[in-house]
Amino acid sequence: MFILSSPSGAGKTTVSRKLLEADSNLRMSVSVTTRPQRPGEVDGKDYHFTTNPEFDSMVAEAAFLEWAEVFGNHYGTPKAQIAEGLERGEDFLFDIDWQGAQQLSQRAGDDVVSVFLLPPSIGELEHRLRSRGTDSDEVIAGRMARARAEISHWDGYDYVVINDDIQACFEQVRKILAAERMRRTRQTGLIEFVRGLMQEG
Ligand code: 5GP
Repeated sequence: MFILSSPSGAGKTTVSRKLLEADSNLRMSVSVTTRPQRPGEVDGKDYHFTTNPEFDSMVAEAAFLEWAEVFGNHYGTPKAQIAEGLERGEDFLFDIDWQGAQQLSQRAGDDVVSVFLLPPSIGELEHRLRSRGTDSDEVIAGRMARARAEISHWDGYDYVVINDDIQACFEQVRKILAAERMRRTRQTGLIEFVRGLMQEG
């Protein structure tokens, strides 16, 4: 489980897209949210959009691996798709906030790798948020306040990457994923392989 968090505008969406394009063994975890759908977003692909009562009943049924309130809306990771995918040996990419990262790390410890992306400056972050052109001034002010709060949780992550240049940032994140996959404890079948080596000749 590979978690990518950042304040909005720090490049998480672009880095996620590039990782998924580059890596066929990586699947995106699609969250459930009560946030209204934005123009261009596809239900079932970007999020599973739902109502407050439906979200609450999923919480009651313990259907989430983790869930949190972000910007006044609810977001959660449904358990089912992750359990099936991990069983098949797939890796999952999570675009979730620090609360979700904390919950997943507590639950799944050794199976989780978390990366936090930082913007090069607060000015650049605001510029990136404004250039999207999708949110009102009030929403942007709220997101900037939230960004500062999100940044304060940087020290709960395994890795931190400063996104000065999106391509360089993507390459750094890809290297982290590659290195973490090479950890001895994550390489299945290694015991048999080494036994085979010892028996040769
Ligand atoms: P947005 O509304 O801009 O798509 O996402 C707002 C924030 O919610 C982002 O920081 C995103 O990472 C976070 N988020 C999205 N899905 C989940 C989820 O399932 N769980 C948690 N904890 N955070 C999420």
